[in-house]
Amino acid sequence: MKDGPVAQPGRAPPSHGGGPGFKSRPVHLISQLMESLEAFKEQLREHKWLPSPGESLSWWAGFADPFHIAVTAVLVRMNRWEQAEKVFEELSRRGLSSPEAIARASQEELEEAIRGVIFRRAKARHLKVLANAFLSPGSIEEKIRVAPIGSETREAILLFALNQPLFPLSRQAKRVLSRYGIRVGRREAREIEEALGRDLYKLKLLHASLTVIARLYCKPKRPMCGGCPLSQSCARLL
Ligand code: SF4
Repeated sequence: MKDGPVAQPGRAPPSHGGGPGFKSRPVHLISQLMESLEAFKEQLREHKWLPSPGESLSWWAGFADPFHIAVTAVLVRMNRWEQAEKVFEELSRRGLSSPEAIARASQEELEEAIRGVIFRRAKARHLKVLANAFLSPGSIEEKIRVAPIGSETREAILLFALNQPLFPLSRQAKRVLSRYGIRVGRREAREIEEALGRDLYKLKLLHASLTVIARLYCKPKRPMCGGCPLSQSCARLL
């Protein structure tokens, strides 16, 4: 899926001011963004994100078990949520939804059980990595931070399953923010975390909202700005 920023012919990308990097932007920009997202949050429910207190795991489609959040984070990568949820139900039906069961299962058994999602060979391997991280002694967070499961998946698990205050730098987030006027890389993502005071509620709201906005409005090739909750302050439209 191609999802880079859409350049407008003959027009330099607009900016809210300053040079490259988040720190050079007006501080109010992130506050302004969060205000728009706060107003948007009730619509998240229609898309399986459940706005809740910061520490709550319920944000992730109402899930309560960190391992189940982690498993579905692996399944949903490059898939629609509906499909990931269906495959998770199939794993549960086969008795393969616990770390112990996944650790015991063969690679082939897991691939067969998750055949409704793409990249199932890699994802079956990632499920094994997760199971071992949850079962082996030591800090789960530390093991997930270095787990070879892809940075987007890793960061989503750390935030939503393990309540680690970080900003997952997903392709969708980069696309929406760059069009909005905030160019983000790894360094800037850490600065966003600081600007939000490492507040779990704000970080979860930011990630969930950007994911939904990217899917509904800020599409890779042709953004549909009419109706976008960010259209009043988006740099692309100013
Ligand atoms: S208004 Fe919304 S859809 Fe349009 S470019 Fe900005 S963020 Fe994307």
